[in-house]
Amino acid sequence: MRATLDFLLHDWLGVASLLSRARFADHSVETFASVLDTCERIARDKFAPYNRLSDTQEPHFDGERVHLPESTHAAMAAYAESGMLAAAQDYDVGGMQLPCVIEMAANSFFSKASVAMGGYAMLTSGNANLLMAHGTPLQREVFARNEFAGRWFGTMCLSEPQAGSSLSDVATRAVPDGDGFEADPLGPRYRLRGNKMWISAGEHELTENIIHLVLAKIPGPDGKPVAGTRGISLFIVPKKLVNERGELTGERNDVALAGLNHKLGYRGTTNTLLNFGEGRFPVRAGAPGAIGYLVGRPGEGLRCMFHMMNEARIGVGLGAVMLGCAGYEASLEYARQRTQGRPMTGSGKDATQPPVPIIQHADVRRMLLAQKSYVEGGLALELYCARLVDELATGAPDAAREAGTLLEVLTPIAKSWPSEWCLEANSLAIQVLGGYGYTRDFMVEQYWRDNRLNMIHEGTHGIQALDLLGRKVVMDGGAGLKLLAARMGATMERAGHVEGLAVPAQGLAAALQKLGAATRAAWATGVPEEALANATPYLQAFGHVVLAWLWLDVALAVQRAQTAAEAFGQGKLAAMRYFYAYELPKIDAWLGVVAQRESLVREMQDEWF
Ligand SMILES: Cc1cc2nc3c(=O)[nH]c(=O)nc-3n(C[C@H](O)[C@H](O)[C@H](O)COP(=O)(O)OP(=O)(O)OC[C@H]3O[C@@H](n4cnc5c(N)ncnc54)[C@H](O)[C@@H]3O)c2cc1C
Repeated sequence: MRATLDFLLHDWLGVASLLSRARFADHSVETFASVLDTCERIARDKFAPYNRLSDTQEPHFDGERVHLPESTHAAMAAYAESGMLAAAQDYDVGGMQLPCVIEMAANSFFSKASVAMGGYAMLTSGNANLLMAHGTPLQREVFARNEFAGRWFGTMCLSEPQAGSSLSDVATRAVPDGDGFEADPLGPRYRLRGNKMWISAGEHELTENIIHLVLAKIPGPDGKPVAGTRGISLFIVPKKLVNERGELTGERNDVALAGLNHKLGYRGTTNTLLNFGEGRFPVRAGAPGAIGYLVGRPGEGLRCMFHMMNEARIGVGLGAVMLGCAGYEASLEYARQRTQGRPMTGSGKDATQPPVPIIQHADVRRMLLAQKSYVEGGLALELYCARLVDELATGAPDAAREAGTLLEVLTPIAKSWPSEWCLEANSLAIQVLGGYGYTRDFMVEQYWRDNRLNMIHEGTHGIQALDLLGRKVVMDGGAGLKLLAARMGATMERAGHVEGLAVPAQGLAAALQKLGAATRAAWATGVPEEALANATPYLQAFGHVVLAWLWLDVALAVQRAQTAAEAFGQGKLAAMRYFYAYELPKIDAWLGVVAQRESLVREMQDEWF
């Protein structure tokens, strides 16, 4: 995978071109490589050997404390030590000013080695990066900097038992904490009461404190919460209170662990139901509730949270890719060793011959090739999007604007496509191992269980589909889809002149035309209920067209780098061909129901089930 990662970064995306930008001027191709080397080494030594342990010794709550394996403590200490928590931040806050694309590539090693242990770090970076964007100078100094240093870890507390996909139904309340509430140096001080469900890393003793970022509603003048997402605000709620010098005050905040959730996978990351302000740890007598400090302005909570959305969703997609990759590599190794059956020859099978490694059977190669096309294609997708994040942040104005428009439309794909297809890759990895794959003696079953989360969190598959067809492809008169089509057109144009790539280029042109036609047909009546009933098949088709495009573009890079004759290049071209022969034709079925505005799922009655 490292060879593919390096090829995509350098030969395909040309990341060296970023070095001419002021923000990255101190870097070089060598410093990029050394960050990747360091992360690959820490992931190999401190994460991978304990991945199974983090699954079998899942977090345990004894009523007072949550216990995690010692190896998780060691892994997180090594991660913090590497400086990666602040990788993309400015030098003057202890960061490395790395491009997003390099940061993501470096973090991919941890997702592959142990996605669950890596979860603590990803949440902490996301939390602290958000505070750098929206916090006051003191909030940044006290909270974000201590998170970057690895002294404290962070969480994201959005979901509640009754409010998952629909965050407008958040019921946690925040009320001003006394008359002087606005004078607190750490930010306007509130008292929060409510329950937060599914909170990853919500309790542990990996660090001396946990910084929760909590969405809650401030009641309006009539004492009632403002309906909808406009009423949601964001608060910093530390587990242990701190002063403005970042020292623990010795006071425990009223945040109580109600219990741990016991999950299918991702078990090494604690997952919690947290009660805020239930009175279990009364704090600063006088008023009930957990103490929290407002971030940004009242009512801007979701806007602040979603500031980090592109990166968070690329991170989820990349995690799904790397789990797919782990399964692919494990099943490839197995298929090269496991002997079973005789090869099919022109005259059938010869029972007198010794059995062959299963990789010699065409059907096993099909399963391996499918995995290769999903995971390497998925890796290209995530790195492409991360590179767009860099363009948005540091590109010339026109290029930055274009990157922003493309990211709007590609982010639902970046999150969802690998969540579905790299999960399918994990299923195929199990299949390649046969019965052994279904046992806990091999890792492939854990990869599948870990990956199954990704279609659920950070916006479910269905919610991403609604976002894509309901909002992203129609916003600004369809500007995102037009721009994407133009980028695809440029690839097709170049591929049209290259031997072996002209036919797939025609296939892509036809697919793009069908996607455009289906988009228009879905919205032909202008009735959202009709258009959106088949949003998920639309998301699937859209994702497959994007992946077909990226594979063609990667194939062009293979030709450019003159690696087509080598095994490495042959493998890339075969995966591209696989995608066009076996995957792209699937879009006809998906787009068929979209274009017809098939009404079945809308009209199906509850009592008919
Ligand atoms: C392991 C794990 C870790 C998590 N970590 C965190 C975390 O750290 N912080 C945090 O805040 N949350 C976290 N979550 C919560 C996660 O984001 C939610 O589970 C997710 O948003 C879905 O919410 P829900 O579970 O309430 O499902 P629901 O919203 O009840 O959805 C159930 C099903 O109904 C569908 N559905 C719902 N509404 C609609 C609609 N309007 N139209 C069409 N279909 C719809 C969904 O697509 C889904 O298939 C985590 C969840 C898990 C499982």
